[in-house]
Amino acid sequence: MEPVNTAVSAESDAADADSGTGEAPAAVTLGTIQLAVEELWPESLAEDWDEVGLVAGHPNAEVTRILFAVDPTTAVIEEAIDFGAELLITHHPLLLKGVTSVAANTAKGKAVHRLIESGTALMTVHTNGDSAVGGVSDVLADALGLQNVAPLTPAANGLPEEGIGRVGELDEVLTLGDFAARVFGILPSVAGGVRVSGDRDGLVRRVAVCGGAGDSLFGQVRASNADVYLTADLRHHPASEAREAAVNDRPYLIDVSHFASEWLWLPAAAEALGNVLADQGHDVEIRVSTTNSDPWDFILTPG
Ligand SMILES: [Zn+2]
Repeated sequence: MEPVNTAVSAESDAADADSGTGEAPAAVTLGTIQLAVEELWPESLAEDWDEVGLVAGHPNAEVTRILFAVDPTTAVIEEAIDFGAELLITHHPLLLKGVTSVAANTAKGKAVHRLIESGTALMTVHTNGDSAVGGVSDVLADALGLQNVAPLTPAANGLPEEGIGRVGELDEVLTLGDFAARVFGILPSVAGGVRVSGDRDGLVRRVAVCGGAGDSLFGQVRASNADVYLTADLRHHPASEAREAAVNDRPYLIDVSHFASEWLWLPAAAEALGNVLADQGHDVEIRVSTTNSDPWDFILTPG
């Protein structure tokens, strides 16, 4: 599988912040980073069904390097170890469902062992990262140039600007074809590309987005009067029923890679955490994974 070709690294500027004091940067513990993560992406914003926070690792362990990634796959864990990261922060949980064993005779058990035996902590920032300001859908909306952005579903325990999905307006009317090209241009390159339902020459201005799987939000999308809805993992029945229920043929649908739609958040998240830690005088090197964890490798299309 090809690595993501839009690698971005974010490093804290703690060295600059410390210049003049003559003191070495303070060592940072995993527990301190947990507090910084909570400040940026509070666990109270996570959905009820979700499992976020620290998965493996000792709060007293010292952290000098952090890797951000979408999925805690074997390849990503090895990338974190090769980088020398003492902490891997992933968007998706490794252990979302209850487990009674982490014996190394399953893929997830092996992952837990590899993490602990290599001294690599694992932390999950999932729907709390989706919902927060500067979260997954916010970054997607920003990359598309949307303005007057608001959540599709406001957070139950948050501010009005926090919640799942976003809707906003382009600064100009675009054809659906040109908008899809814009979508294609901002996302990392993946085998599945970008799928579109609707008239290529139809005009769009109001855009709803939800990074990751968003086919539970069609009601909110219709209520938002969006011309087009961009999300991932659109299955046949929800997608075809949404098109049957379209008014004036809208909302059009754009289906993208789940991985790609969420990868966009990683550089912004790495930068945000780097800034918080740097402001506290901590010197931590933070990178974004270059592993493409989209499960698809190639596609055949007619013509
Ligand atoms: Zn996801």
